Amino acid sequence: MTDCIFCKIINGDFGTEFVYEDDNAVVFKDINPKADVHLLVVPKEHVADLNECSEELIGKLMSVVKKVTVQEGIKSFKTLINTGKDAGQEVFHLHIHILSGNIKF
Ligand code: AMP
Ligand code: ZN
Repeated sequence: MTDCIFCKIINGDFGTEFVYEDDNAVVFKDINPKADVHLLVVPKEHVADLNECSEELIGKLMSVVKKVTVQEGIKSFKTLINTGKDAGQEVFHLHIHILSGNIKF
């Protein structure tokens, strides 16, 4: 989607460094971290939220959570998916938050 910030990041428009990347997803640091480690797992395909996400894709994204936490040596962490404006979703391109250490929410 042309006006989607995460699509632009995936497209490399801002030169964002990816902590992890595979065929399905990228992982990058949250710009406004709410913990010592705050990563976002983002599908390459534009999917607005969990309501729009296939079972297959969410499975792949959870697999990425496992891979990137092992890669980064993160053993204790919280995962979070906000779905919908009323739940606090601000970016309408599905993402899984990974938070570890001094979690602020
Ligand atoms: P949510 O409220 O679940 O939609 O979370 C959106 C998250 O995206 C927030 O934690 C923001 O800090 C983060 N965010 C917004 N823009 C960027 C960006 N350009 N790079 C990295 N993270 C971002
Ligand atoms: Zn998008």
